[in-house]
Amino acid sequence: MSILVVGTVAFDSIETPYGSAERVLGGSASYFAVAASFFSPVKIVGIIGHDFPAEYLELFSRRGVDLEGLQRDHGDTFHWRGRYHEDLNVRDTVELHLNVLTRFSPRLPESYRNAEYVFLGNIDPSIQMEVLDQIKSTRMVACDTMDHWIQGAKSELAKVLPRIEILVINDSEARLLSGEHNIVRAARSILRMGPRVVLIKRGEYGVLQFSESSVFATPAYPLEEVFDPTGAGDSFAGGFLGHLARSWDGSEGSLRRAIVYGSVVASFTVEDFGLKRLAALSVEEIEERYRRFIELTDFHT
Ligand code: AMP
Repeated sequence: MSILVVGTVAFDSIETPYGSAERVLGGSASYFAVAASFFSPVKIVGIIGHDFPAEYLELFSRRGVDLEGLQRDHGDTFHWRGRYHEDLNVRDTVELHLNVLTRFSPRLPESYRNAEYVFLGNIDPSIQMEVLDQIKSTRMVACDTMDHWIQGAKSELAKVLPRIEILVINDSEARLLSGEHNIVRAARSILRMGPRVVLIKRGEYGVLQFSESSVFATPAYPLEEVFDPTGAGDSFAGGFLGHLARSWDGSEGSLRRAIVYGSVVASFTVEDFGLKRLAALSVEEIEERYRRFIELTDFHT
């Protein structure tokens, strides 16, 4: 089943203790789309500026991502600059230039309006809402957000939350959104805001899933070398929803397997800068690491 994603398509400038990259392809929609494309067909809703190089779009085409909903504008492309600390779980946004995003008003192509799975990637919540309003029927809507929007657009975000099934959010943002420090209390508080499931991303410590009736925890795949954590969250969401779109049967088990596939894809993303590793990834590598993940977490032997 197909997935529609709305989010940023960006220039990212990244600094980590291991190196730096200038104006590489990034953005929440980009990472999500490439990650999800290993499992299900993906359609992007987003905006790029006049300065966006054609060669950056090639990766999407190679992965079969539908770009009909990607608008082109005469302004400059969204640009994010981030710097990671020695502890790669901590990063600062050094620059954030919304540019074309400030006048983005998505118009969904007709072929997008029946997407079964929808991911409201990290972007202004009012844009997430505009997308939701244009969709006719869905099986599942998942959503991500970020400190920038929680702080600057909280009331808009509060209107989105009752309309989604799954919120994917990182731990510090869950605390910020709920005002609770304890992560379990934060998750419970977020569940009361609307979603039926909350997935809390904890960087190298893995993912926690909360619903009214269940809790599930998975570690992150242990890696000896992590070069660039950028996009790990969006790749997790892409692998997760991509797998769900391919095989969800309503069971808790299929939700859990999708969480592990999301973690597997994210573990590849961080092995190199930007989208480099995902661009070279194969389905066989994903399956191999999924099997290792089963061994990693098996304590019934
Ligand atoms: P992640 O590391 O998965 O949390 O996401 C990193 C991506 O988010 C980068 O590629 C950025 O381009 C993008 N990004 C950074 N800040 C924002 C923002 N305020 N809204 C939307 N996307 C953003």
